[in-house]
This record gives sequence, C-alpha cells and structure tokens, in this order.
Amino acid sequence: MRIYKVGGAVRDRLLGKPVTDIDWVVVGTTTEEMLAKGFRPVGADFPVFLHPKSGEEYALARTERKSGRGYGGFTFHASPEVTLEEDLIRRDLTINAMAEDDQQNLTDPYHGQRDLEARVLRHVSPAFAEDPLRVLRVARFAARYAELGFNVAPETLELMRQLSESGELEALTAERSWKEISRALMEDQPQVFLEVLRACGALRVLMPEVDALFGVPQPEAHHPEIDTGVHTLSVLEQAARHEQPLTVRWACLLHDLGKGLTPEEEWPRHIAHEFNGLKLIKAVNERFKAPRDCQELALLVGEYHTHGHRALELKPSTLLELLQSFDVYRRPQRFEEFIAACEMDARGRKGLEQRSYPQADYLRGAATAARSVAVQPLLEKGFKGPELGEAIKRERLKALKVYKEST
Ligand code: ATP
Ligand code: MG
Repeated sequence: MRIYKVGGAVRDRLLGKPVTDIDWVVVGTTTEEMLAKGFRPVGADFPVFLHPKSGEEYALARTERKSGRGYGGFTFHASPEVTLEEDLIRRDLTINAMAEDDQQNLTDPYHGQRDLEARVLRHVSPAFAEDPLRVLRVARFAARYAELGFNVAPETLELMRQLSESGELEALTAERSWKEISRALMEDQPQVFLEVLRACGALRVLMPEVDALFGVPQPEAHHPEIDTGVHTLSVLEQAARHEQPLTVRWACLLHDLGKGLTPEEEWPRHIAHEFNGLKLIKAVNERFKAPRDCQELALLVGEYHTHGHRALELKPSTLLELLQSFDVYRRPQRFEEFIAACEMDARGRKGLEQRSYPQADYLRGAATAARSVAVQPLLEKGFKGPELGEAIKRERLKALKVYKEST
C-alpha cells in the first residue's frame, strides 16, 4: 500500500499557510487490510478510516459515479486497482487535487501547482457538476484566498452557473449547506463568498431574499453607497474586519431583508422594513437550520437595529422595552452581540467606516443602569408575582430616566 497526503494539507503547505488538518489517501489496499492494521472505519459503506493513533482521516483511493440527485446519489468504487490519478480527478479544484508522498514528491496531474501560482480556482473535470456543494465550496475558497489574489476561472464560474440553473442546488441538505455557509462567513472576506454566489446565480437559488437586495436603493444622505445589496456586503465585511462571531455575521447578512419587499414607489425609503423583514429572516434561518443563537440574534437585529442607531433619542420607556425584548438581565452577551451588529451596520456605509458609534456605549450604559435595579428590597416590601414584575419594571424605568438625564 502507498500513502499520500492530499487536498488542503498539500495546497496550504505550497501556499505557505499553516496546515490544520491532514487528509490522507491510500492506494493499493483493501478495507480488510486497513482493519487488520488497526484503522477504525468511519462509516459502514464509506471507504474512510481513522488512524489508530493520530485520528487523522485515511481514505481508500476511489472513483465516484453519480447515480441520482443529491448527496446520496453517488456510487463509490474503491479497490486496490484504483490509481492515485483516478482518485485525484474526482476532486473539486485543481489546487485541491494534488498529492504528496513522505518525501514531499508531488503528484499533480491536473496542474494544481500552476493554478496556485496563477491564483486560479479551477475545476478538475466536468464531473465537478455532479455535486452541487462544490458551488459553495468554490465560493468559500474564493473568500478564503481573496487576499492572495485568487479568482474563479471563467469556465468554472460557467459550470457553477449551469449547476445553479439546473435545480441541483435545491437538492443540497440544510446541514451540508450550513456547514459551508458558516465556514465561509468566518473567513476574513466573507463578502467575497456572497459575491461569487451571486455572480454564478447561486445566491438567487439559495438566498433569494439576499439576492433581491441588489438594485434596491436607499436614501443617499444616510447611505452614500445607495444600493442595499452593496451595503449588506459592506456590513459583513466590517463584521469580519472587527472579528465578530458567527452569530453577529449571520445577523449582519440578514438585517435588511425587509428592504427587498418595499414597493418601488416608496423607494428610496423603507418604512417598517425592520418588521417586514422578519418573515424573510425566519425563512432563511429555517432553510439552513441555522443554530438557535444565530437564528435568535438575526431576528432581534432585524427587528431592532434602527432602535440601536437611534439609541440616544429613545425615550426611557422605549429603551426599557428594548432591554426587556433582549432579556438583557439574563442574556447580557446577546445584547452585546446586538450592539456589535448595529455598529457594523453603521460602519458598513461608504465613507463612514471609521466614524465613531457613540450609540454602542450609550446602550451598554443603559443596560448597566437597568440591570443595577436590585430585586431584594422589592421582595422585602412584600411584592410578589406579577406585581413584583411591575415593580421591577418601574424601578428600571426610573433608573433609565436618571441615566438619560445624566448623559
Ligand atoms: P480545508 O482547509 O477547508 O479543510 P480542504 O481542501 O482540506 O480544505 P476538506 O473538506 O477537508 O477540504 O476536503 C479534503 C479534500 O477532499 C479537498 O481538498 C478535496 O480534494 C476533496 N473534497 C472534499 N469535498 C469535496 C467535494 N464535495 N467534491 C470534490 N472534492 C471534495
Ligand atoms: Mg481538510
């Protein structure tokens, strides 16, 4: 049996990037032999094993053929006769289709090294079109390597366009899509992921609600960039630049979906877009089965981001409602994430990226004031049940009035 390093580990070493996980391919062997050597099978009918000591993934060289829609629609063929070149040709991109032996001798039949140098993301073979997930993967790699100057090859983008138009993207499971989307959002330039998806028509299929924002104008006085889609991508870009967590990035992407519903005769104003967008945010959340914290924050940011921007003008009673809606007393972290998303929204405007956002500290101060109301004295006064709740609210309102007057 011969063992090679493949995929990301080879690619990233050649790029001079840190290698995190190593994938191995094994040529000229059988499942029986792997098991006899102590490798643990990953799945029942998948020729992938875990190394008994390192836990790294070792896959038998295999060929694949498409036999139906979706991910289940693949038949694998793994046998000792399958060559390294045959295994590499089923991979997505040329830069991911290189292998290396323990002497660092490169096997590169599809010119991955040439494409690495030319900064091109290029599919290996027409079989690329057999797995629609590759559309998302290419967009994710485009985001990851944008800073190195990588671009998607025109012929690959064309294949991605055909895949997007064929209806195949709809066959992706929520789990597989979310894994790619969430990883892409955590890259340094997540906006590139969306730009590539949009360029090949995949955004219109996966997130038509986001796609619809392009071409929708906003008032130039607040939004020098005018276009809502452009704004959304800038907000996401700011979120990455400020190293925000996934929850905030997801909320940033979805915060303005309501603007896509505004009747054209109301443009460039978007009255009640915050509320109108909620059903769209819910739909996208559910389509990808986003984790609960991402779903929640996206809905809250969608509903309340304008409150955030207008924080300094809010009446104490409105401030209180805002804090109550976030349950800031038990969920302080979530409110911090809301503030961060609002700030990214404000910075995601052309020419205003560096402008200070005093609303952030003002909101933090308001939360602190409301949280400082002690419950014990109210209990001692004999309040209980709903009356206790009302009494706490009254005290918090008082605290917010004092806070507002003092700032
Ligand atoms: P990362 O740094 O994100 O781990 P990677 O290239 O190692 O990047 P993996 O998902 O770990 O990505 O996959 C390892 C290799 O398996 C890839 O480099 C690619 O050759 C191949 N591969 C993975 N998923 C697919 C797919 N859906 N279609 C084709 N090839 C794939
Ligand atoms: Mg990998």
